[in-house]
Amino acid sequence: MTEREVLQANVEQVRARMADAARAAGRDPGEVLLCAASKTRSAETVRLAATLPIDLFGENRVQELVEKQAANAYAPKPAHFIGHLQTNKVKQVVGCDLIQSVDSAHLLDKVAAEAARRELVQPILLEVNIGGEASKSGVDPADLWALLEAAAALPSVRVQGLMTIPPVEEQPGEARRWFAAMRRLFDEAADRWRGDDRVRMEVLSMGMSADFDQAIAEGATLVRVGTAIFGPRVYKI
Ligand SMILES: *Cc1c(COP(=O)(O)O)cnc(C)c1O
Repeated sequence: MTEREVLQANVEQVRARMADAARAAGRDPGEVLLCAASKTRSAETVRLAATLPIDLFGENRVQELVEKQAANAYAPKPAHFIGHLQTNKVKQVVGCDLIQSVDSAHLLDKVAAEAARRELVQPILLEVNIGGEASKSGVDPADLWALLEAAAALPSVRVQGLMTIPPVEEQPGEARRWFAAMRRLFDEAADRWRGDDRVRMEVLSMGMSADFDQAIAEGATLVRVGTAIFGPRVYKI
């Protein structure tokens, strides 16, 4: 099999799993977007994947995003930033289709300032640390409301929803309660901001290769899938 054929078979399997999960939850499979998490994958591999039925790419590292954009690897698919964003790298990321990982007032301010300087409106998601883990990025659920207020006051960003990476669980099935907790936050945010266009709760980004079925069962509208599409990652030391 060629690399493209392998990717195609993997994407078909992922799509089938997504559709099964959606139907089992009484949802329309068309309401869940497939984001291919392409960290460590070459521009060449990404270019092949861009010809397959994925909806968009998610990149973790600023350097990789910049390089693959320069190689025009994602086209015609959108590219989102999904990794931890350091404030000194904001300039390189603002202008991408969606920054999924805004998780502090400080980062929010930097993104808004750069977007304003470039005279654009930057779409963002707020990343939530749903498990409250000390080691993880993401805003504490209790602090989400203040961060939403802050974002709403900034005309150069537009909040489109929430993103999370839940705690790693030993047992399959245990991620589900975190996804359910995210869904409750998402619904509450949608209620609080209903009728106010400055914050729109449209995207709930959660679920990865091992658990996206459970995330879809709990209401994910976007799943971020790496390994199940591209195979195991090989990190160079
Ligand atoms: C790598 C990554 C994924 C995909 O993880 P897999 O387990 O390979 O599917 C999803 N989201 C983020 C933020 C990632 O960094």
